[in-house]
Amino acid sequence: MSTFIPYGRQSIDADDIQAVIDVLNSDFLTTGPAVESFEQAVAEYVGARYAVAVSSGTAALHAAMYAIGISSDDEVIVPPITFAATANGVAFQRGTPVFADVDPETLLLDPACVEEKITPRTKAVIAVDFAGQPCDYDALRQCASRHSLTLLDDACHALGAAYKGRMAGSLAELNIFSFHPVKHITTGEGGMITTDDETLAKRMRIFRNHCINTDYRQREERGDWFYEMVDLGYNYRLSDLQCALGLSQLKKLPAWIKRRQEVAHRYDEAFAGSPAVNPLRVRADISHAYHLYVIRVPGATRSAFFTALRNRGIGVNVHYIPVHLHPFYRSTFGTGPGLCPVAESAYEQIISLPMFHGITDSQVKAVIVAVLEEAESLPA
Ligand SMILES: *Cc1c(COP(=O)(O)O)cnc(C)c1O
Repeated sequence: MSTFIPYGRQSIDADDIQAVIDVLNSDFLTTGPAVESFEQAVAEYVGARYAVAVSSGTAALHAAMYAIGISSDDEVIVPPITFAATANGVAFQRGTPVFADVDPETLLLDPACVEEKITPRTKAVIAVDFAGQPCDYDALRQCASRHSLTLLDDACHALGAAYKGRMAGSLAELNIFSFHPVKHITTGEGGMITTDDETLAKRMRIFRNHCINTDYRQREERGDWFYEMVDLGYNYRLSDLQCALGLSQLKKLPAWIKRRQEVAHRYDEAFAGSPAVNPLRVRADISHAYHLYVIRVPGATRSAFFTALRNRGIGVNVHYIPVHLHPFYRSTFGTGPGLCPVAESAYEQIISLPMFHGITDSQVKAVIVAVLEEAESLPA
């Protein structure tokens, strides 16, 4: 299937490869200078004071939950339309993820639904900038501060997005990114947390290194061997090889975001006249990073639509099966159908179309033609 158009794909150029080779030829393959350089570059790009690199977006969510002290008595509110890792981070710390429903037009966490799910045990809210569109942070911040909750942004879809002129990565107290190859920039596997809070940043740096309270460089400077492991931590470090790749990728991000917006614009124009193809609503107060381009088709036809497009070599996908419907969540937290009706009904209708910065104009055209033809040929 050489003509298959995937839903997402990374771009790696000669500069990226050279950056990794340079690290291979250097003294530090891990815990070296490339880590801090990458952290500083991301912090600067998103407008946050601190950035902490970790081994994946999932590790970033776990580190964030650890940093704010989530434990078995705590509830954390999350949306169901997200990758399971958003809620898993809460479960890793033995907390309880509580699912609040989404807005039907954007599939973003609905602040009114968050309000309804708050209990005396609620400690935090993780907003997810689904598809690359930032949530309504004015409303979410107000709600969080009224109830003394920590607001987090799972911005894994939203690197390069902005809300009222402020970049994703600086919109919540802790902001989570992933550098998996389908995301905007990649390090193979990788993640980052950005924050303005020095104490939380320090806690996450220690957490990613087994909760050992000094690093080897501090010991080297002091000329001794002593260290203590002060809590149960993990090895969630991101290597210098990966950070060098990330740093090289980051330079290209602004152009890549532009390309994604251009592709979305083409899709928007093409589908505007088709009653069966209904893209998610984009609010006027944001700049969209388009990790995904999601359309809704009538629920009864979604499955046939999906299969027809796959058969034509169009790499459509579905993001996401509502997290509270997964067997683990049902059996562990007693969730199930009916808990988030808006998300559940949206799930029946959504399809993600190919969206990546390296997609060619002719591939975009092929997607549009296939989507419109299939939309017309389906039973109404
Ligand atoms: C990709 C993603 C994650 C997890 O990131 P990994 O790097 O794959 O661990 C978490 N949340 C969302 C919304 C994601 O898209």
